[in-house]
Amino acid sequence: MIVIMLSEACAPVDRRRIIDTVQFAGTGLRVHTPALLSLSGDHKKIAALLADEPCVLDVAKLPAAYPRSARLKGRPRTTPVPLGNADVGEDFTVIAGPCSVENRSQLLTIAGAVKAAGAHALRAGAFKPRTSPYSFHGLGVPGLRLLAEARELTGLPVVTEVVDVRDIEVVAEHVDMIQIGARNMQNYTLLREAGRTRVPVLMKRGLSASVDETLLASEYLLDGGNEQVVLCERGIRTFESSYRFTLDLGAVAVLKERTHLPVIVDPSHAAGASGRVVPLALAAAAVGADGIIVESHHDPAAALCDGAQALPVGDLPDLMSRLVHACTAAGRSLRFETGDQVRGGGLLDRVHS
Ligand code: PEP
Ligand code: MN
Repeated sequence: MIVIMLSEACAPVDRRRIIDTVQFAGTGLRVHTPALLSLSGDHKKIAALLADEPCVLDVAKLPAAYPRSARLKGRPRTTPVPLGNADVGEDFTVIAGPCSVENRSQLLTIAGAVKAAGAHALRAGAFKPRTSPYSFHGLGVPGLRLLAEARELTGLPVVTEVVDVRDIEVVAEHVDMIQIGARNMQNYTLLREAGRTRVPVLMKRGLSASVDETLLASEYLLDGGNEQVVLCERGIRTFESSYRFTLDLGAVAVLKERTHLPVIVDPSHAAGASGRVVPLALAAAAVGADGIIVESHHDPAAALCDGAQALPVGDLPDLMSRLVHACTAAGRSLRFETGDQVRGGGLLDRVHS
């Protein structure tokens, strides 16, 4: 795959000439944006044809076919994705909350603790993909309404998963970031539909997806015109059975080399047990991830889903302060989300009033 980057200031007449020049030098020419073209063909030949074109910034040969997610010369190293007051990809971002929305008081209690700890966003699933059809599958739309209420009360942006293409619209209406779960990373219809929305998407790496497959999956979102995409490493299946999944932090380093999309880490689903979550979260920050999404619950033993790996909410402040050190080691900053609304337990009083 050859990618041609043009300067934003390229005049339409010059762009037309460039397109005409390369049209027959390769196959499958696509104009992704006015400044980004791609095609298959002989890199040297195409680069030579464009050598004297002043508005061509780069003619790059990609190792794989992901022109829109690839990190290219002339593009920023990371494209930040806004999430409430945070820009994922700038400062280190912490998204925390329960695996699933269980009821109003559970969600608002945890939301208050997430906000008080200085984390940046609340996570919780209203639609849950479960291995067994007999497990709790989430509250559905009433769960989305509770998430919207939690956002209203705390000011925290909310992140939730969509599992069915028929729910994309209603999910997009209620939340600030749509999560595509690991099991759906290769559900291309779902990706295409999420790509048509303009709500930021958090796309998790599939349980057995390679780095290339992950980047190609992100192209479905980007190709639909949704440019606000964050990737998430959450552990892959390997021969090792001592924990739930193998957290592939090497893949985070590789993704940071190859893509301009922010990359965060989910330490919870890899850990499978709460005692392992903090070390994996610190390792994620140290390896250069742009943030974490961590499961946390006020009463893990009573959680309806993934309780064993849920960090007690009382441990969140300590996680946040330890992350500051890991972030410093990695050369980046962690800014605590602040707000008077819930500091000192104000939200909990409002919940119970
Ligand atoms: C989740 O975030 O609760 C979840 C189901 O994650 P994953 O898709 O990574 O298993
Ligand atoms: Mn979970």
